[in-house]
Amino acid sequence: MGLLVVGSLGLDTVETPFDKVENALGGSATYISLAASYFSGPIYLMGVVGEDFPQKYIHLLENHSVDLEGLQIVNGGKTFRWSGKYHYDLNVRDTLLTELNVFEQFNPEVPDKYKKSKFVCLGNIDPALQIKVLDQMEGPHFVVGDTMNYWIEGRKEKLMELLKRVNVLIINDSEARLLAKEPNLIKAWKHIREMGPEILIIKKGEHGALLFTDETIFSAPAYPMEMIYDPTGAGDSFAGGFIGYLHKTQDLSTENMKRAVVYGSAMASFCVEKFSTKGLEGLEYFRVQDRFREFLNLSRVDEK
Ligand code: AMP
Repeated sequence: MGLLVVGSLGLDTVETPFDKVENALGGSATYISLAASYFSGPIYLMGVVGEDFPQKYIHLLENHSVDLEGLQIVNGGKTFRWSGKYHYDLNVRDTLLTELNVFEQFNPEVPDKYKKSKFVCLGNIDPALQIKVLDQMEGPHFVVGDTMNYWIEGRKEKLMELLKRVNVLIINDSEARLLAKEPNLIKAWKHIREMGPEILIIKKGEHGALLFTDETIFSAPAYPMEMIYDPTGAGDSFAGGFIGYLHKTQDLSTENMKRAVVYGSAMASFCVEKFSTKGLEGLEYFRVQDRFREFLNLSRVDEK
């Protein structure tokens, strides 16, 4: 059974201190699907694009075993567009533009063959749409959800409704503080736990990621990189690696979640090495495993 991914597909204009790209492939579902495709398949993708979405990006997704039956292409419609600018501190990003375009009218209809998927990844889109997808799913499933400040600030009520139905929430540190209205991340986890998710992952950019469960707190480092070219999509690539690994292993134990966090971090590190989705294209799986081992070595120490 495939892994269901819903989220945005878009054209991104991104400026970093090093370069600028216009209308490059982006979107939460795009990064999640590409990252997850290294672990399991098929990926059942749900989203919407306009007529202006380049055919070469459709081929790219197909070449990564992404099933596109759930992708709507709107005749005469305009694809979602997002633009961001990074500061010298690449953890700081200004959003310059968010044009929802075809997402404004998007009515997700889950194809029959996707409905029994046991693993669902709700990429960052309007929580009302994330709920619409969950409403159509059949049988028990494991739901990983992502969101961002745009929706925390603009769609709080719907988001709270969604959180009751999400097993794992993945957000970054500033979003966790905003959602919980609490500066301390441990206390923020306790608040968010009460909102629904039994597991919380807080991404901290170049400072790694924290996994919170009722039993444990686990900290994974970020890969120390000399050159971060474009951080866009790092969080989504993390989510894709995380759920892709869980889908592949079908093991939801705490120990396996920790491994999944490290695989997620590995995929995020590939993502930021190049612009747009280039870092996630055409990787060999042995490179993913090598990076997983490098991550383990980063914090392994002998007890004297
Ligand atoms: P990340 O860097 O992980 O936050 O993801 C960046 C991606 O999210 C970009 O490729 C954008 O196209 C997409 N994105 C940005 N804002 C939104 C939004 N409000 N809804 C859906 N996707 C978005």
